[in-house]
Amino acid sequence: MPAPLLLVTRLPPDEEAGWRRALARAMPGETIATAADHPDRTTVEIAVVANPPAGSLRDLPALHWVHSLWAGVERLLQDATMPPVPLVRLVDPMLARAMAETVAASVLHLHRGLHVYAAQQRRRAWIPHPFQPATGRPITILGLGEMGRAAAELLVSLGFPVRGWSRSGAPVPGVSIFSGEEGLTDALDGAQVLVNLLPLTPETRGILRASTFARLAPGAYLINFGRGAHLVEVDLLEALAAGQVGHAVLDVFEQEPLPADHPAWSHPGVTVLPHVAAPTSRASAAAVVAAAVAAFRRTGLCPAGIDRQRGY
Ligand code: NAP
Repeated sequence: MPAPLLLVTRLPPDEEAGWRRALARAMPGETIATAADHPDRTTVEIAVVANPPAGSLRDLPALHWVHSLWAGVERLLQDATMPPVPLVRLVDPMLARAMAETVAASVLHLHRGLHVYAAQQRRRAWIPHPFQPATGRPITILGLGEMGRAAAELLVSLGFPVRGWSRSGAPVPGVSIFSGEEGLTDALDGAQVLVNLLPLTPETRGILRASTFARLAPGAYLINFGRGAHLVEVDLLEALAAGQVGHAVLDVFEQEPLPADHPAWSHPGVTVLPHVAAPTSRASAAAVVAAAVAAFRRTGLCPAGIDRQRGY
């Protein structure tokens, strides 16, 4: 029996137990331990983590790599006590598919004015608005990684003109690609929908700000499914008040759960989602981890980790 996999989370006990069961089911040949089992920490080679408390991966001298159960790793990178071993983030096709669905659902909802008709219904107002074809509604996606690519492909298939912004400018079929500072300006110019699917890094923090909104078409829609700290909330409130942003769908916030007195809850121009754009499926995430562990057991090679310098 190989050394136990150490599961480290800050999740409520029932959630952690659910993850433990899913991981055990996906890896019947492995032992999944938590700190409460008091495993021999000197033998642990792999840690599987979800929001681990700072310092919880210290004293693991045999640690080879860490697998996160989340796609975003910004919090792990903020933990100065993280050992300098490969840090693997969750790349799960199921997650990307769910994200693409939620982006498309939000875009179609706004594109066909369903948010406007919902507000009209509350006033018993029968007011049809002019039809606009998808081909006339340019959409810009910030971030064309696992999430952004899947969303872009689905939106292209629906007939929307899609522009995408990434660091490398790698091609995505049917999408006009931009990169760099200048590319960002071109990508934003006149967009009617802006979708953020960037990772949170020092470079992308606060990217959804007044100067960004000013580049969009007046009344453009904002969809932030990246991280709360991408958005400068006060700038959004001003852009909504000025009509520069017509409506925002926000799934992520600096403080989650969103505090009861947060203005987003009651703002008519904001749709609040409780961080559900791409929920992690325990079974499929555990299968992804299991495949990485099996490859490591077979070859002794650690899977490719994220680039700590880039921050994603
Ligand atoms: P990913 O595969 O690492 O892709 C990140 C994308 O952002 C890449 O296209 C990358 O460019 C681009 N990028 C990063 N820094 C950039 C910069 N400074 N300038 C321009 N482009 C930059 O990440 P992912 O799996 O798609 O996930 C993205 C984020 O979505 C996560 O970090 C997380 O915050 C969020 N997320 C949210 C939910 C939810 O439920 N709301 C669920 C999952 C993930 P390159 O292609 O050139 O590298």
